[in-house]
Amino acid sequence: MNQTFRVFATCDIGEAIDLLRRRGYEVEVYPHEETPPKKVIVDKVKAGVDGLITTLRDSIDAEVFEAGEGRLKVVAQYAVGFDNINRADANRFKIPFTNTADVLTEATAEFAFFMMGTLARKMWAAEHLTRENQWGYWHPYLPFLGDEVTGKTVAVIGTGRIGLAFIKKCVGFDMNVLCYDPGYQNHAFVKVIQEVQELRQARGLVKERPWIKYVALEEALAEADFVSVHVPLLRVGESATPTYHLFNERTLSLMKATAYLVNTSRGPVVDEKALALALRENWIAGAALDVYETEPLPADSPLRDPAIADRCRLMPHFASAARITRLSIDPDKGMAGRCVQGLVDVLEGNYGGDVTKMPYVVNKEAFRG
Ligand code: NAD
Repeated sequence: MNQTFRVFATCDIGEAIDLLRRRGYEVEVYPHEETPPKKVIVDKVKAGVDGLITTLRDSIDAEVFEAGEGRLKVVAQYAVGFDNINRADANRFKIPFTNTADVLTEATAEFAFFMMGTLARKMWAAEHLTRENQWGYWHPYLPFLGDEVTGKTVAVIGTGRIGLAFIKKCVGFDMNVLCYDPGYQNHAFVKVIQEVQELRQARGLVKERPWIKYVALEEALAEADFVSVHVPLLRVGESATPTYHLFNERTLSLMKATAYLVNTSRGPVVDEKALALALRENWIAGAALDVYETEPLPADSPLRDPAIADRCRLMPHFASAARITRLSIDPDKGMAGRCVQGLVDVLEGNYGGDVTKMPYVVNKEAFRG
């Protein structure tokens, strides 16, 4: 490499930064743990960087691309979701951006599954009981009971990478699966799951054969004991089927009063005011959230209402936060590795310099002839 590339990382992503430095890159990492102010990013880009490493905390739009005109060549996003990057602006300025799909799929799916179990079996309330010395006696049903997950019906909203991985976990618990996805229906995957469900019954692992099928949203919500959300955040105008406030007063009221909602996708997919109301008025049995309309969750969020605390689990956008998933420098295992590989592909002109052939570039449409 006879050119020194300059990179600004808005966040420390671990050893992968050294990997770039060992390749001769000049890498500056924002030295604080908090989100850098937008002005810092704009100033760094203006001062001249070839690549930008970003996270979902950074708002990347025309202001940033304009600051980078003539020099900025790639934005490498350390996440699969990229709703913080204005795709139309990136395309207008012809800046490719990359994401870290796939390597966080299983970690996120298993976290959603664990949240579902934690919520339904009331593990948070149960541990509080023990820690606060309120566990006075063993009793068949007092002070509360949870609900089983095994054998129940789960609706999976969005059957992309993480939704399908989530279904794989559900199969081990002999759950029935209602799939909803207006954009992508993977019938071959459904067929494989049906074969596994049949085999589990044929070999005596389960008495009744569980099932899986694609249905309309309304049917999924009305029939499910659990609803797990795995969609990207798509605002009005970004998709024919936007996901902004997909869960609102209308859709929450379609769910069973005994059903639970799990959201590990993006916060604005759920109207939090409507959800807090649904929990307070017992339209649904509970919710477990990893993501919020505003992050970190504000002190005055209605979701913090003590009246719903036993039925509302709140996680700190943590679903992909597992050691290998977050930090491995292997692009086939870790977000860090995949993030820097996406950056290197563009800057070093891998794949013959053809952006449309680079596996981690998202906005390929801007570079097609
Ligand atoms: P993906 O693109 O593979 O799958 C998303 C699916 O949602 C697609 O099949 C798409 O057709 C479907 N979809 C789009 N609009 C829909 C709608 N209105 N209703 C139902 N389905 C719809 O993405 P993925 O890799 O599975 O990731 C999904 C999302 O999960 C990401 O975009 C990200 O926002 C979020 N995520 C969160 C965390 C976390 O830490 N909490 C981690 C990883 C991903």
